[in-house]
Amino acid sequence: MKDIIIIGAGITGCFIAHKLSHYEVNVTVIEQENDIAAGTTMANSAIVHTGYDPEEGTLKALLNVQGARMYPAVCRELGCFYHRCGAFITAHKQEEADLQILYEKACRRGIRASMLSIEEARKEEPKLHASITKVMSVPDTAVIYPWEIAIALMEEAAENQTRIKLSEKVIAIRKEERFIVETDQGVYEGDYVINAAGVKAEEIASLYEDDLPYHIQPKKGQYYVLSKRAKDFVRHILYPTPTAAGKGVLCVPTVHGNTLLGPTSECCDHEDTSTSKEGLDSIRMRLSTMLYDVPYEEIIRSYSGVRATGNQNDFYIQPSAKEGHFLHVACIDSPGLASSPAIAAYVFDKFFSHEGFCEKAVYHHRTPPVVMEKLSMEDKRKMIEKNPAYGEIVCRCERISKQEIIDAIHRPCGARTIKGIKKRVRPGMGPCQGGFCEPLVAAILAEELGIPLQEVLYDSHSSHLGEIGKGGKG
Ligand SMILES: Cc1cc2nc3c(=O)[nH]c(=O)nc-3n(C[C@H](O)[C@H](O)[C@H](O)COP(=O)(O)OP(=O)(O)OC[C@H]3O[C@@H](n4cnc5c(N)ncnc54)[C@H](O)[C@@H]3O)c2cc1C
Repeated sequence: MKDIIIIGAGITGCFIAHKLSHYEVNVTVIEQENDIAAGTTMANSAIVHTGYDPEEGTLKALLNVQGARMYPAVCRELGCFYHRCGAFITAHKQEEADLQILYEKACRRGIRASMLSIEEARKEEPKLHASITKVMSVPDTAVIYPWEIAIALMEEAAENQTRIKLSEKVIAIRKEERFIVETDQGVYEGDYVINAAGVKAEEIASLYEDDLPYHIQPKKGQYYVLSKRAKDFVRHILYPTPTAAGKGVLCVPTVHGNTLLGPTSECCDHEDTSTSKEGLDSIRMRLSTMLYDVPYEEIIRSYSGVRATGNQNDFYIQPSAKEGHFLHVACIDSPGLASSPAIAAYVFDKFFSHEGFCEKAVYHHRTPPVVMEKLSMEDKRKMIEKNPAYGEIVCRCERISKQEIIDAIHRPCGARTIKGIKKRVRPGMGPCQGGFCEPLVAAILAEELGIPLQEVLYDSHSSHLGEIGKGGKG
C-alpha cells in the first residue's frame, strides 16, 4: 500500500485526508499545533461564497463554483451546520457598472443571482444605507462552521485508519528511495507528500526545493463579533462591491446567531493574529456607508486570521518541478474554505487517479455528537433522563451541558484544551466569553484526562493554566 503524508490539518488537509481515507492507502496527517483547524481555518468569515467573484480562467473560479455546490451534501453527510442565508452585494451609484459585470459573470457561471433596487432590498434588509443604489442578490450563498467541518472530516478519516499526528512540527524533508519527513518528534516515510501547510506552505516547500514558483504574502483580516442579542440585525450576508483589493468589509450572520463584522486586509507576518485599534476602527468606517445603526454595543470579541495570499492571485496546486510526488497545495487564500471539497477532488483526480487505488470495501461513517441545542424539548428530556449530565449546564450563555463537554473529550480526535472544547462545543462563545464557565471546563478536562488542574492547557503547547499569570501564553 502507498504511504501518503499530508502536512497541515486545516480545512484543505482535512478534506484531502478524508477523500483519501476512502481508498486502500496509508495516510498520515502531520500538524504542528495540538488540535485540528488551528490555523487560518479557525479564523475567517465562514462563508461558502458561490464563486461569482474570482477572475475568469483561474483555479479559484473553477474550484469555488464546484466546492460551493458540494457543501450541502458534505454537511448533510457529516451532520454539520450549513445555513443558506443568501447574500446581498451592495453598490453605490459609481459601483453599479462593476456590479453589473459581476452579475453577468454569475450568470455565465450558472450561479443564481438577481438585481434588486434599493427599495426591494430594503424590504428584506431595512438597515441598508440610503446611499446604496443597487443590490445583487445571491440566494445560494451560505455560512458554515469551519472548524466543526474540519474536525468532523478528520474524525471520520481517523475512523477509517488515517493517522493524525498532532503537536509535531515538520522540520526537514528529503528524498531517498522514498520521502523522509522529519518532525521535532519523529521520522515518517512516504511515497507522496502533500504540502497543505496554509500560510507556511512556502516555508515547508523550501525545506525540499529551491526556486519556488510562488511566494506567499500573508494578509491579516480583523473582525468584531456581535452577541446573539444582535441576531436580527441582518438576515443576509452583506458585501460591498468587490474591488481588486478583495471582497471588502462584510456583515455576516453566523450559523449560531452571532454577527461578524470584517475583515480588514493588511500585509502582516505569518503568525500575526493580533488585532489593533486602527484595524478595528477601519471596520466601523467602512461599514458606515453600507449600514445604519450597527449595534456596536453588542461587541463581545475581536479576532483576526491570516490569509495565505499568493503572488499569482490564484491557488497553486501543482507537483514539485523537482519530483512529481511532492504536491504543493499552496496559496489557498479566500475562497479556500468554499473551494476545499473541490480542492480535495481535484488533487485526487489530477494526481492519484492513475494510481488505481482500490476503494475500501467498508467505510465507517461518523456518528455526529449530541448537540442539545439542536434537540426538541421532548428529545432533550429523554437524553437527560438517560444521563443527567446532559442537563447539568456548564456554559450559561450558550447553554452547554457537562456531558457534551465530556463527549468532546472522548470522541476520535477529541479535545485536549479549553480552546479545543470551545471549538467543538462552544462554552465561552457567549457574552461572558468564558468568565463563568472556563474554570468549570478546565476542571472537567483535568478530571477526564487524569491530569492536575494546573497542567490543563488553555490553547497552545505553552499555555498551561499553572503558567498563566506567570508570563505563560494564555
Ligand atoms: C480573514 C479571512 C477571511 C476568510 N474568509 C473566507 C470565507 O468566508 N470563505 C472562504 O471560502 N475562505 C475564506 N478565507 C480563506 C480560508 O479561511 C482559507 O483558505 C482556509 O482556511 C485555508 O485552509 P488551509 O487548510 O489551507 O490552511 P490552514 O487552516 O492554515 O491549515 C494549515 C495547517 O498547517 C499547519 N502547519 C504549518 N506549518 C507546519 C509544520 N511545519 N508542520 C506541521 N504542520 C504545519 C498549521 O498549523 C495549520 O494548522 C478567509 C481567510 C481569512 C484569513
